[in-house]
Amino acid sequence: MSEEKDLRKTLLVQRVNGFDFLSRDEVIAASNYAPGYKKYLDEGKTERSSVLASKALAEGAGYVPYVRGMTLNPGTKVYTIHRDKAIMLAHIGQKPLEEGALFAAAHLDAPRLDLKPSPLYEDEEMVFFKTHYYGGIRKYQWVTIPLALHGVVVKKDGEVVDVCVGENEDDPVLVITDLLPHLAQDQNDKKLGSAFPGENLNVLIGGAPYADEGKDRFKLAIMSILNDTYGITEHDLFSAELSLVPAGKARDVGLDRSFIGAYGQDDRVCSYTALTALLDLAETPERTAVCILVDKEEIGSEGITGMQSAWFDGFMTDLCASQNARLHVCFENSICLSADVGNAYDPNYPEVSDKRNNARCNGGALVTKYTGARGKAGASDASAELVGLMRRLFEENGVLWQMGELGKVDQGGGGTVAKFMANRNISTIDVGVPVLSMHAPFELTAKLDVYMLYKAISVFYRKAAL
Ligand code: MN
Ligand code: MN
Repeated sequence: MSEEKDLRKTLLVQRVNGFDFLSRDEVIAASNYAPGYKKYLDEGKTERSSVLASKALAEGAGYVPYVRGMTLNPGTKVYTIHRDKAIMLAHIGQKPLEEGALFAAAHLDAPRLDLKPSPLYEDEEMVFFKTHYYGGIRKYQWVTIPLALHGVVVKKDGEVVDVCVGENEDDPVLVITDLLPHLAQDQNDKKLGSAFPGENLNVLIGGAPYADEGKDRFKLAIMSILNDTYGITEHDLFSAELSLVPAGKARDVGLDRSFIGAYGQDDRVCSYTALTALLDLAETPERTAVCILVDKEEIGSEGITGMQSAWFDGFMTDLCASQNARLHVCFENSICLSADVGNAYDPNYPEVSDKRNNARCNGGALVTKYTGARGKAGASDASAELVGLMRRLFEENGVLWQMGELGKVDQGGGGTVAKFMANRNISTIDVGVPVLSMHAPFELTAKLDVYMLYKAISVFYRKAAL
């Protein structure tokens, strides 16, 4: 009998729950890692504020701003910020860059509601902002929840004004209304995807008039408050980036506190784990370790601050120049962890997942060979050799990990920055954390998985090599 048991253990994959696999000390370490992560989530509710939170942590760990042409020796720690929306950090390694760098790339942007360029209007003595959603949202989830306003307004003279309303306990919050059930009969008969049109996601921002009479007196009252607070006029909203995000802080979830609930965990969970894995490197790594936290992943990694931007290549070219290294040689010997979230198996919705291939909460860091949709279209497919390398690395260093795919074939799909790194001839593989309710205003991760991703990226930075 025991022979059969041994054989089963040797020959068959056994799905493992982290609580059964990890030591008591590691479960405690996972729980101790969570408060720092929650603080990072609270400080960074937009890519701009996440960049600032990342910068503060980097400087605390001795990273200095990179200046083009500066001398870079093994052990030098630099960071560079790109147009306030992306940040890249490098810990220069002992080996030359032509022998390859180790990248972890995550994204700081998250689905949200952006204000339109002409957002302000009044209707029936109430004042609203018009919005244009950013990224993949399920619109019904964004009504009747407290929203906070974040962003910047650039005045005519170029002054940049920071706006943040709705995060302090005594701040007002903003909200999108919804029908009462008593009158929702027609709406209830609609399909979920069309019952909440994007053009209806108008945010209530006021209802008190400026004066007893006159045109636009309700709208004027709101603009007057904005003018008193920020010195801005309605014209200034043309040159603004203002976003509505769920108000409030990250919370422990569950009576056992085993989950974290918060807005924007896709992909700040991988941003924080990649960042802290880099900052916590106690010794100069063999290979130069680079953490890339970018913008615009949720809308295709396009544009000047997305992963497709030449900014990344430019920074790496600068690093290579300091060693007379060729960028393309550096890239061909490099490895990238495309650090992004995957879906966690939800027993309430088993019908969308292949339970044999779906990641589980508390199953550890999630390795995904390919993403994409409809026959893997749009995917970067990591080679079996690269998956093998990660397996070895994680298993030999006590990292609990699992293999996962995003759901049933032809049920939907998604993508990450992986293909944009792979297109540069960098060996790339997706690694992340399983998330419940991904892209919802309140997403869930398991503390054990967050910590295991931190550990996975730490091991990668310390030991990986092609
Ligand atoms: Mn993501
Ligand atoms: Mn996403």
